[in-house]
Amino acid sequence: MKVTSEQAKQLLTDQLSVWESARDNYKALEAVQVKELTVEGCTVKIQFNPARIVSSAAKVDTQSLKERKCFLCAENRPEVQEGLPDGSYTWLINPFPIFPEHFTIPVNEHLPQLIEKRFGDMLRLAHAAEHYVLFYNGPKCGASAPDHAHFQAGNKGFLPLEKELKKYRRIPIRTEKSARLSQVEDYICPFFLIEAESEETAEKLFVKLYNALELKEGEPEPMMNILTW
Ligand SMILES: [Zn+2]
Repeated sequence: MKVTSEQAKQLLTDQLSVWESARDNYKALEAVQVKELTVEGCTVKIQFNPARIVSSAAKVDTQSLKERKCFLCAENRPEVQEGLPDGSYTWLINPFPIFPEHFTIPVNEHLPQLIEKRFGDMLRLAHAAEHYVLFYNGPKCGASAPDHAHFQAGNKGFLPLEKELKKYRRIPIRTEKSARLSQVEDYICPFFLIEAESEETAEKLFVKLYNALELKEGEPEPMMNILTW
């Protein structure tokens, strides 16, 4: 089964009707303070969101991970939490949201957060859930569960970059049929961009990019965050 945007949204509605603390956190999100700044021509949204401290301050060192029960493994999830199966993944609502609609999509086994073999899955998930932006935080790049592979999804229309992408100049690097890999340097945090009409060509370009990225000593993969829509 492929989870669509409508099914994900329904899961959120259903869960918020029975899960009080998650409902409180989504309610609190409506009242968080947001400040918008323009930095070198780019819009930056700063969110003061105290409910996030549980997630953003999660200890991710090896010892702490060993001592805590993994909150993405099915057997350790709160009883009230339900999931939508999607192949080898499960959609869950994120009880500590940043987005007005925020999901965590863990793989069904306790396997480490690594992107190399899962980028195609990310594209497939994003393709089916077209109202959402999927994101990946590398094990050393913000993932609060680096020991359990997962993506996150948030509703479109929320991230400034999504709206502003068109205005940035692309420096071409490579093409694969009609797909393009380019570099965007004008953004506050320069990034690589893959634009493609098919998952196959996007994946081919990703593999080339992945293999060209610097791998620091002792790291399982090049450090990265990925957004996909
Ligand atoms: Zn786990």
